[in-house]
Order: sequence, then C-alpha cells, then structure tokens
Amino acid sequence: MNSQIYIYIVFLAVSGVLSLFIGVFAFIRRKNFFGSKTFILISLFSSIYTFGHAFELSSQSLSIIVFWTYFQYLGLPYIAPLSLILVTQYIGAEKYMTKKNVITAFCIPVLTTLIVLTNHFHHLFYQTIYLKQGIAPLLGFVLGPWYIVHGSYTFACLLVGGILLLHYWKQTKSTYWKQTLVMLLGLYLPMIASFLYLIGLVPFSIDPVPVVLSVTSALYIWAFLSTNLFDLAPIARGLIFDSMRDGVVVLDQSKRIIDFNYAATSLIKKLDNTMIGKKMELLWENNHDSSAFPFPELDSMDHESEFELEWHERNHYYQLRSSPIKKKSGDVVGNTIVILDVTEQRRLQNRLERLAYIDQLTNILNRSAFLEESIKLVEEMRKKDQTVVLILFDIDHFKQINDTYGHHIGDEAIRHVVRICKQLLQPNDLFGRYGGEEFVLCLPSMTLEEAGEYADMMRKSIENEPLVINNEIIPITASFGVAKVIEENMMTDALNSADNALYASKRTGRNSVYIENGKLIDYKTRNAAHV
Ligand code: GH3
Ligand code: MG
Ligand code: MG
Repeated sequence: MNSQIYIYIVFLAVSGVLSLFIGVFAFIRRKNFFGSKTFILISLFSSIYTFGHAFELSSQSLSIIVFWTYFQYLGLPYIAPLSLILVTQYIGAEKYMTKKNVITAFCIPVLTTLIVLTNHFHHLFYQTIYLKQGIAPLLGFVLGPWYIVHGSYTFACLLVGGILLLHYWKQTKSTYWKQTLVMLLGLYLPMIASFLYLIGLVPFSIDPVPVVLSVTSALYIWAFLSTNLFDLAPIARGLIFDSMRDGVVVLDQSKRIIDFNYAATSLIKKLDNTMIGKKMELLWENNHDSSAFPFPELDSMDHESEFELEWHERNHYYQLRSSPIKKKSGDVVGNTIVILDVTEQRRLQNRLERLAYIDQLTNILNRSAFLEESIKLVEEMRKKDQTVVLILFDIDHFKQINDTYGHHIGDEAIRHVVRICKQLLQPNDLFGRYGGEEFVLCLPSMTLEEAGEYADMMRKSIENEPLVINNEIIPITASFGVAKVIEENMMTDALNSADNALYASKRTGRNSVYIENGKLIDYKTRNAAHV
C-alpha cells in the first residue's frame, strides 16, 4: 500500500477519535449549551462513519471492505437530518421538531441502514460491488435506486438547514455571525465534499466527507469554546425580542432596516422581511397607514414623541422613541426605534384627569376646574377687548326636595337641572358645579343685559320642566345672580358680585334673576332692588 494512504488512514483515525472526544466533551458540558443531545449524536455517528471509512481503506479483501462500508451506514445516514435538527435548535425554531416530525425525519435514514445491510438480497443500494484497485483496494460500485434516494435526502436536509441558517443570518445580522458561519460551514462543506466525490472530482476516488466532518467538528468546538456556539443567549434573546409587546426596529448607519421584531410588524404595516436592507423612508413612502406615525428623528440624540392612532374605532396611543446605537468609541453605528403602546396608561391618565376636572354626579366641570378654565377664558376675551359674564344659580328650597323625596331623588333633581341648562349652552360657554346645588356659568362675548335674558331663559326652562319620577311631579325652581368679569384677576370679585345678586334673588322671593350692575337690578321687573 502507498504511504500516502497510510497517512490518510491515520488522519481518519485521529478524526474519528476527535469526533468521539467532541461527543464526550459535549456530554460533559451538556447542560451548558443548547442542542447538546443532537450534537452528541452527530459526533457519535460521525465517528462511526469515520472509523468505518478508516477500516475500509486499510482492508484488502472485498468482503472485509464491504463489511466496513456497511458499518459506515450505521452512522452516515443520520448525520444530515441531525444537522438539520441542530440548526432548528440553534435558530430557536425547534417547536417544528415535534416527535412526529423527528420520527419522519429518521424514516429514510433507518431505511437506508436496513437496505444497505440487506443489500445482497435486493441490490437496491449498490447494484453491483467490485474491488477497485487504486491507491488502495477500494470499493467500486454501481448506484442502486435507494442510493439516489439516500443521497437526495442527505442533500435536501443540508440544503434546508443551510437556507434556514442564511435566513436567520439575514435577520440577526452581524450579532452572531461567527456562530452562524460555523454552522453554515458545518452544513455546506460536507455537502460540497460529497458532491465532488460523487462526480469523481476527488483525488484517488476516496470519500473526503469523514475528514471534512472532523474539520467541521473541530470548528464547532472552536466556536463553542470561543463564543459559546450553542449558548442559550442568542436563542433567548431572539425569543424575547420577538415576544416583546413593544415594536422594535433596528437601523444601520445609512438608516436601512436591519432587524425588527414581531410586534413592530403589527404596528407598522408593510414591515416584513422584504424590507430588510431597505431604507426606512421607503416604509413611510409606501405605506399610507404608517404615515400616521410621525417619522422618527434619527440622529445622535435620543428622541421621544407621542401620537394617536384610531384602530378598530378606538383610539390607541403610542410613544415613539428613537435612540442612537453607539460603539464604545462613541461613534453612531445605527439607530433603534421603539414603539410602545401606551394606550392603557393614557386611558388611566385621562380617567384621572377627568376625575380631577369633572364632577361625578353631573358630568360638568367641578369648582376648581371651572375657575381654572374661566380665568383662561377671561384672559383670552380681554385680549379681544371683550367682556365675560358670570351667572351663579342655586336651586330653591332644595333641602325640602331632599327631605320629602330622599337624597337620591335630590341627586336626580340636580342632574335634571343640569340637563336642562346644558341644552341652552353655546359651545364656548363654561358650566360648572359650584357647590351642592349651586351652579356657575361663564359666558364669553355677552353683555350683562344679554346674560340676564339668558339666565331668565334658564330660569323659565327649569320652572317649566319639573322633574317627573314615578308619575310624581316635583316642581323645581332656581334663583340666579349675574355679574360681569372685566379682568381675570377680578374673578373672585365677580363671583362675589354674582353671589350678591343671587342672594338678592333669594331674598326677594326666589325663582328670579338679579344682575349686578353697580346696583342690583331685578331682571324680570328691571327695578332696582331694595337692598
Ligand atoms: P335655598 O332656596 O335658600 O337655597 O334653600 P336650600 O334648601 O336650597 O338651602 P341650602 O343651600 O342651605 O341647602 C342645600 C342642601 O342641598 C343642603 C345639602 O344637604 C343638599 N345637598 C348638597 N349637595 C347635595 C347632593 O349632591 N345631593 C343631594 N341630594 N343633596 C345635596
Ligand atoms: Mg338652595
Ligand atoms: Mg345652596
């Protein structure tokens, strides 16, 4: 035998031992990395294949060569489907590797082993076998139909694994490039080697795959030791990234989309894998819906903005945050865009604001909100040289309503009066509950006279629309006081004046309107009141 073949056999034996060693190493460290079981099996099957091949090459007679060739098929058919499983585990898609799918994946390999072992009965794998004299005595054969099935299946597994990895690489980009590259080499190198072997392009017609397998195994070990190849981190990170409720888009320096998560696709329509590598603006240009999103500012600063979208006839609130991605040196290498759904917080905030501003019984402004708003209104009107009028009114003998019908009917009476007055309001009028059964209005662009008429209209409406409960008619009247506000810092004075007028109205028999115009005037009779 040629000395070269000896070297090759020794090399194969070392490769076989290396595969075994890698398997043992993976077993010891099995808790530390993902897919360890699969990896151990790959190493075990690779060493069976490699040792078988070494023994095949060192054998002289056809029967022994055939024996060691068959022996290789106890390992060889399982390596490719196991590699595919390892890929699915690596990319975090092992949910597709159900028991059923795994069993299906091993049907052809198991059949291959059985068919090879029983080949001399049916010749489905090797049609004919003969001793070929080359650099060493080798097995010559004519392919049988199952050889093609086995070969195609092996290629298919490696090819699918490779495609999945490339897809994953495209998505995760550079973050795990070393690991992914090693995985890719682990799939493609044996595939290329066996293809070259099949078309007869390898020296001395010796199957190079076992040697290639030992090289890729060594690569695995290197990648594992240097970067934790099957570390949980990339998978866990990927899973967390995709299960986040907030949408995340990652851009590179030229504002091209390099990654995004699942939540982002539901928030930004048309964001899908075809957008990877495309400019962010394109998404906005092509996308009518996303134009509702303000285009994020993308520079070396953090930015935050809020916007509102109507979805399924409900308002949703979002916070858009953009931040630069900086290297340790401080150079900006990209940007992240995070879209947070803040609808729940916003609704709660709105509710709290409402609680702080709105009176719960009547749904109109409460006293403090009324004062705040009316000061703003007076200021605004003063700039236009216009005055504002206040109307204060109080339900007459309300205690009697409470005492006669009960507190809850009293509440109903309050709501009833508010309903009547609301119907008469103009859009810019402010209406608030000043106290128990006392109310206040702030009316812009109105003279005292007009406000007096307005108040009298309310008075009449309240008088003419008694509360009817269970066929019982409960008459309600109210007394009104009207006063003018000239300046916002005169609000308290104006309220006192209106209260004065209201008091006059009460004192002179109730159910009437008094205006404070230097002196008190009963609006109904337009007589100066006898104070
Ligand atoms: P006047 O004509 O002089 O205003 O007589 P009045 O009975 O209305 O007198 P007063 O303002 O002293 O009484 C108001 C009563 O209204 C006292 C209080 O128990 C009752 N009240 C205050 N707030 C509420 C409320 O939210 N619901 C009910 N049912 N009663 C209230
Ligand atoms: Mg009252
Ligand atoms: Mg009162």
